[in-house]
Amino acid sequence: MAIDPQLQSCVSCPRRCRVNRYKKIGFCGLGAEILISHIGLHHGEEPPISGSRGSGAIFFSGCNLRCIFCQNFQISQAFHRRNRQVGIQELMGEMLHLEEMGAHNINLVSPSHILPQLTAALSLAKSSGLTIPVVYNSNGYDSVTALKGMRGLVDIYLPDIKYLDNELGRRYSGVPNYGDIIPGVLAEMLAQVGMLQTDENGIARRGLLVRHLVLPGHLTNSQKCLRLLKDLSPDITLSIMSQYTPCHLTHDFPEINRPLNAAEYNEITDYALKLGLEHAFVQEMSSHGSMPDFDQRQPFADML
Ligand code: SF4
Repeated sequence: MAIDPQLQSCVSCPRRCRVNRYKKIGFCGLGAEILISHIGLHHGEEPPISGSRGSGAIFFSGCNLRCIFCQNFQISQAFHRRNRQVGIQELMGEMLHLEEMGAHNINLVSPSHILPQLTAALSLAKSSGLTIPVVYNSNGYDSVTALKGMRGLVDIYLPDIKYLDNELGRRYSGVPNYGDIIPGVLAEMLAQVGMLQTDENGIARRGLLVRHLVLPGHLTNSQKCLRLLKDLSPDITLSIMSQYTPCHLTHDFPEINRPLNAAEYNEITDYALKLGLEHAFVQEMSSHGSMPDFDQRQPFADML
């Protein structure tokens, strides 16, 4: 395996651990390897991403956040070493295979901690004939410098912005500066790909689609996030998610150890409209409670 200097003193994400990932595991739980938890056609994303044939999702193991409410905690934090390890060539082959299977796009789920390896795999895939758009589906805790290295390789950015309040990032995700970095991340993503563009069938071809998961009892934070988006552009496309489900470690955080209620969710969707954010996907309240199970061959119940 060729040595990548970026992994020898890792600053791939804003944690800036500076560990040598060939010798040590970073905060994200990974060394220099790429671990995959699940690959397949995924129908659970927003309509422009999933379309009719599904999004070609590649779920990477590990994560640079430690959210106490993570629905994917089995693969982000509690993953085990029997997850499939792939090299750059094999990852590129999986992308081409997903396109052959009919995927509308390649959906890189939780990619922030493996950017050096992904850059190489995407360059190879694009030069080997990958034609469908590449979706960068992250938690938003990205390095702007590392994102600049993805210019031309990513077609659609799909960040989930969680907080504009550093204290919430510290308490719920274990990082000190989430609120500080997110404005710069969104500005860089928008500069690279612009507003969301779809084809004649409503399938995303290029652009930015921003997600926000509404947390119970933290509506002020949600309102701040929406104001940031409006300041970026009232034409931005966003997805306001109601699917928060108490899980993983929320039993130790009583203030959010309950589902979001309809009144809270409606308050935030109304607020978005009041700000003039009209390009918004909203979810049914019934969306909460359905958790993936990555110990199953098909982790998503609606796909069984
Ligand atoms: S990618 Fe992992 S090792 Fe690198 S800075 Fe982020 S958390 Fe640390």
